[in-house]
Amino acid sequence: MSTGKIGVTSHDLFPIIKKFLYSDHDIFLREIVSNAVDASQKLKTLASTGEYKGELGDLSVRVSIDSEAKTLTISDRGIGMTQEEIEKYINQIAFSGAEEFLDKYKDQANAIIGHFGLGFYSSFMVSDKVDIVTLSHKEGAEAVKWSCEGNPEYTLEKVEKADRGTDIVMHISEDEKDFLEQSRIQELLNKYCKFLPIEITFGKKTEWKDGKQEETDEDNIINDTNPAWTKKPLDLKEEDYSSFYRQLYPAGEDPLFHIHLNVDYPFNLTGILYFPKIKNSVEIQKNKIQLYCNQVFVTDSVEGIVPEFLTLLHGVIDSPDIPLNVSRSYLQSDGNVKKISNHITKKVADSLNDIFKKDRKDFEEKWDDLRLFVQYGILTEEKFYDRAKKFMLVKNTDAKYFTLEEYEAIVKENQTDKDKNIINLYATDADAQFTYIEAAKAKGYDVLIMDSQLDNHLINHLEQKTPTTKYVRVDSDVVDKLIQKEELKESKLSEEQKTDLIPVFNAQLPSTGVNYMVTFESLGENTQPLMITQAEFMRRMKDMAAMNA
Ligand code: ADP
Ligand code: MG
Repeated sequence: MSTGKIGVTSHDLFPIIKKFLYSDHDIFLREIVSNAVDASQKLKTLASTGEYKGELGDLSVRVSIDSEAKTLTISDRGIGMTQEEIEKYINQIAFSGAEEFLDKYKDQANAIIGHFGLGFYSSFMVSDKVDIVTLSHKEGAEAVKWSCEGNPEYTLEKVEKADRGTDIVMHISEDEKDFLEQSRIQELLNKYCKFLPIEITFGKKTEWKDGKQEETDEDNIINDTNPAWTKKPLDLKEEDYSSFYRQLYPAGEDPLFHIHLNVDYPFNLTGILYFPKIKNSVEIQKNKIQLYCNQVFVTDSVEGIVPEFLTLLHGVIDSPDIPLNVSRSYLQSDGNVKKISNHITKKVADSLNDIFKKDRKDFEEKWDDLRLFVQYGILTEEKFYDRAKKFMLVKNTDAKYFTLEEYEAIVKENQTDKDKNIINLYATDADAQFTYIEAAKAKGYDVLIMDSQLDNHLINHLEQKTPTTKYVRVDSDVVDKLIQKEELKESKLSEEQKTDLIPVFNAQLPSTGVNYMVTFESLGENTQPLMITQAEFMRRMKDMAAMNA
């Protein structure tokens, strides 16, 4: 047996590893299992280049709990390590073997997960002691056992090991003992390892027999090694996309449609994004996208990483260029991550534009479920607005849909004010504003329905972008603002009668802080004898104040 001291510096790194490396202790399992997967992938690579001539056999990674010994063990049949390799890759913290391997086998290497050479040590967040028992795939190699109790000293000795590969034996510490529970480990494997590219087994499959759950002889495989996003879009049918959606969100309602991302330049990115039906509030629907790095789950809280409106989408994004990293702020400031989010924004806009162009009817049918997403994107991402203004739709009170450009062509003849601004009339509640809508239509105007949670903000935004188009609610001081094609009909009431009537109406009107106006002109025979309106500007100020309160 030999002993030694860990590290490239004289500092003891363990206290830092234990407390600060990962805010989330759970991830040790992800790190150890992904190392086992890496080791198996590396062996596959060596076999494909002819450098490894032996049998590959079953490469699955086994996770097991020994409740008596209080250990959690991850075993693989990958490349294993020689004593020299342990000294190099394990004893020198922060020296990542993965990086060196990737450099050497750049072109044929299967995706390697590790980047930083700190992953293995995360096992010390939950263990009093960790053993590595390993036999290298190399001919004539001898098995070795490395052992360390969470301080800079370690021991290294020769042992017997029949099979190629590595066992990582974690002696779980007393205050982390829930990691010795079947259900806890199952839950973590489901979270982090569900789509790893090498089979992971944990215990045996169970089945219900005579009202009891019984173990079978069959291994319980916890992952799908070949998830939909890793396949070519051409090889997938519509139902493959919907069954993958159900794999991700068993209880979710069917999405509207999906985008399959598949980029290999200037960075690597795959994934499938789904557009959910967004009913009434954007607030409650965020955070369903899962971020992966080479099929290893990284996070499902992507705010700050992708633009906020994209957090409304569902699905999976996978990129080896997203660092499997220790801190969230690092992810947010990472240049690759920024490029990736810009790309996704562009891709999402382009896909919507494609659907819009290819099948306008389908797009219109989905619009009501889609509009909050598009509006949110327009309001928060300049780059998205630039693309989305071409396919963003508005709906009028006859349930007809228009792009902004189409709509302008319809109203510009009839609905302008004295300064030649175009006036888009809108209603926020078709029932409550019914009489105003009818009156406006009788005058030959068109009225939009703008009743979404975000329409108020959208109107302000659009007016800023195109100052020559104004939005005026249909019960506002409409008549004053528009140039009439026909002359207004003189009211049959005398001036004196009008003056007498105004206080009668005013006394009945609710006091909302915004003054009402009573006017008596009307158009045509079937319209109202008088109109009660509020100033658009005043009303909108008040509505915005109420929304922000
Ligand atoms: P990284 O995975 O980022 O390289 P880790 O700290 O997770 O960093 O692992 C350090 C190194 O230890 C790996 O690069 C690899 O060379 C070696 N290693 C860890 N686990 C295994 C394993 N199960 N089989 C073979 N080598 C391993
Ligand atoms: Mg690793």
